[in-house]
Amino acid sequence: MPQASSNKTGSSRDIGIDLGTANTLVYARGHGIVLNEPSVVAVRAGTTAAVAVGTEAKETIGRTPGSITAIRPLQGGVICDYEAAEEMIRHFVRKAVPGRRPRTRMVVCVPSGVTPVERRAIIHASTRAGAKAVHLIEEPMAAAIGAGLPVSEPRGSMVVDIGGGTTEVAVISLGGIVTSRSLRVGGDRLDAAIIDYVRKEHSLLIGERTAEDIKCAIGSAWPVPGSPELEERTFTVRGREKVAGMPKTLELTAYDVRSALDEPVEAIIAAVRTTLEECPPELSGDVMEYGIVLTGGGALLPGLELRLASATGIPVFVAENPLDCVALGSGKCVEDMDTLNSLLSPAK
Ligand code: ADP
Ligand code: MG
Repeated sequence: MPQASSNKTGSSRDIGIDLGTANTLVYARGHGIVLNEPSVVAVRAGTTAAVAVGTEAKETIGRTPGSITAIRPLQGGVICDYEAAEEMIRHFVRKAVPGRRPRTRMVVCVPSGVTPVERRAIIHASTRAGAKAVHLIEEPMAAAIGAGLPVSEPRGSMVVDIGGGTTEVAVISLGGIVTSRSLRVGGDRLDAAIIDYVRKEHSLLIGERTAEDIKCAIGSAWPVPGSPELEERTFTVRGREKVAGMPKTLELTAYDVRSALDEPVEAIIAAVRTTLEECPPELSGDVMEYGIVLTGGGALLPGLELRLASATGIPVFVAENPLDCVALGSGKCVEDMDTLNSLLSPAK
């Protein structure tokens, strides 16, 4: 085991990275979450030169001139553009840990579906960004740790992490993932469902960013009894009329958006059901007793926990700060490398 720095004042450069399909977060030892930006790289067309990364690059999506393309290096839980991914990791690490990084150890959270080739690519990119040692940890494990679940105990805990590109469902016990399932349905698919709905029902063309805005403003998975005002909310959408191509305005209701989201929401519920069916009976008994915990940005969709609870008959809870759970879980490993060593697969 390499020398662990006991310095908590900040000279230690150990970091945890949540490499999400939508957002990347960096946790620095002794400091907490120091960076939280969209996983987007803007490159000049025909080259690999990044002109902007993160927040600045996301601003350009859908608005780029022909000469600049906004790339999301991770899609559907896998790296679809290695060079952009490497550039992004390098940029974020430099930004989060300025100055020299002589002995940086990194704990990088990766979607559970990544292939050995992708694992190597992430390790390579992290090394080029200055890491002296890289450990990979599976996202559902990090999410569960970050949500405060007792992952090391002989007790089944179920976590459902709904990110941008994927939903990861996992049952964890004794520090390991017992059963898991990764499906390529996440926030992006919800956005796509809204785009389809508006096109089919109202012949209006809208972009991804507008769809995401609609989802976050008035989206829901189930009527929420505690907030009847949500039902009355509407969203004024501006887009382009499909046939005439002219700008057009439309008023969408919360009910419209809920119907639009129905299919992908059902897919998430079906994945939870299947994972429960595959789970050893003692552990599913624990899940029935202690409930299911939702993490990731998708957990913020109002009514999702109610709908999932109704479909499974199991209590469902949304983690505190669901968007931060994976980064906080990686942070816990970084702060406490020794006790959590058993959870990590040494990658280098
Ligand atoms: P990833 O881990 O893939 O980077 P995140 O956990 O950061 O993903 O979640 C990002 C997703 O959460 C995006 O698809 C975003 O639209 C969605 N999201 C964020 N806030 C909300 C909200 N209030 N309601 C519904 N979805 C949300
Ligand atoms: Mg995530």
